[in-house]
Amino acid sequence: MKNISNKRILVTGGAGFLGSHLCESLLNEGHEVICVDNFYTGRRTNIAHLFKISLFEVLRHDITFPLYVEADEIYNLACPASPVHYQFDPVQTTKTSVHGSINMLGLAKRLRIKILQASTSEVYGDPAVNPQPETYWGNVNPIGYRSCYDEGKRCAETLFFDYHRQHKLKIKVARIFNTYGPRMHPNDGRVVSNFIMQALKGEDITVFGDGKQTRSFCYVDDMISGLIKLMNSADDFTGPVNLGNPVEITIIKLAEKIIKLTGSKSKIVFEPLPFDDPMQRKPDIKLAKEVLEWKPSVPFEEGLKNTIKYFKDLTKN
Ligand code: NAD
Ligand code: UDP
Repeated sequence: MKNISNKRILVTGGAGFLGSHLCESLLNEGHEVICVDNFYTGRRTNIAHLFKISLFEVLRHDITFPLYVEADEIYNLACPASPVHYQFDPVQTTKTSVHGSINMLGLAKRLRIKILQASTSEVYGDPAVNPQPETYWGNVNPIGYRSCYDEGKRCAETLFFDYHRQHKLKIKVARIFNTYGPRMHPNDGRVVSNFIMQALKGEDITVFGDGKQTRSFCYVDDMISGLIKLMNSADDFTGPVNLGNPVEITIIKLAEKIIKLTGSKSKIVFEPLPFDDPMQRKPDIKLAKEVLEWKPSVPFEEGLKNTIKYFKDLTKN
């Protein structure tokens, strides 16, 4: 029997980096959590510490296929997020965003429940305006290597808003900007995990292009609190809303910072910039501040130190 004051919450992609932190936070709030994951990039070790909690349940399932369960809310996070992983099987990436969203929206429609979509700053493509407000429609290549992810996520946003307008579904759309922290996959190719692993192993730090491209990095704890605030916001607030840390840094500066914080002897080397790599990215978070009363609070160095510690422990085991 379910405690009626608490909810049963479905988290797709729950064994991934963000999903595992979200499952943990929701369990800490006393909710039941059903973690749905096909373990494409997610790992059992991310959620192993939750197995002993009786309110936690795991389903190995690919959301491109229909799912019939009972729940009170859905957080739809399933989708590989690292360029290396989402470009490995691009057709499956698009299917996960499009077919996966249709299946999860169908489930939400049958149950008449609220559903949150983990969208991305990639919907802005290589943005011509900086910082990016939610009103900016983006500058996206529809046929490039990143398109399976960018256009998949854009189509998912379209589906969410059409289900909202056509079926009166309660939706929430978060545009997540680069997020980092413990439980990132050590080999997933994303810049923070790559640079830390390279620095810890004393390998060359691979900066792509001239390193002058920028990103804005948000610590995972801040991101999870933003996602939960968004889910619990007033029913008439759908988003899309940017969630991210507006402190912008060049990739070369990031490499130098990680070398300093790890005390590594690694050297920086330059490699070709991947095709369609966005030159700048910085969220305008005015809307999140106003409506959700949310802003990131973890300083970059503190977040990086926690993340370095996580990868150090990982390499010891
Ligand atoms: P991740 O790769 O660590 O997690 C994604 C999870 O989804 C994994 O556990 C994976 O196995 C699972 N998954 C993938 N395809 C699936 C499918 N078809 N069915 C079921 N499970 C599937 O990535 P993350 O960083 O935790 O990202 C989570 C979500 O947040 C993604 O939707 C991503 O697009 C979005 N996002 C993340 C960032 C970031 O910087 N971390 C930025 C923008 C958006
Ligand atoms: N990058 C890099 N070296 C690496 C990995 C990534 O210079 O080893 C760069 C990448 O080209 C991009 C930025 O770091 O400009 C962020 O890359 P990531 O894959 O983390 O995410 P993106 O924001 O591009 O989706």
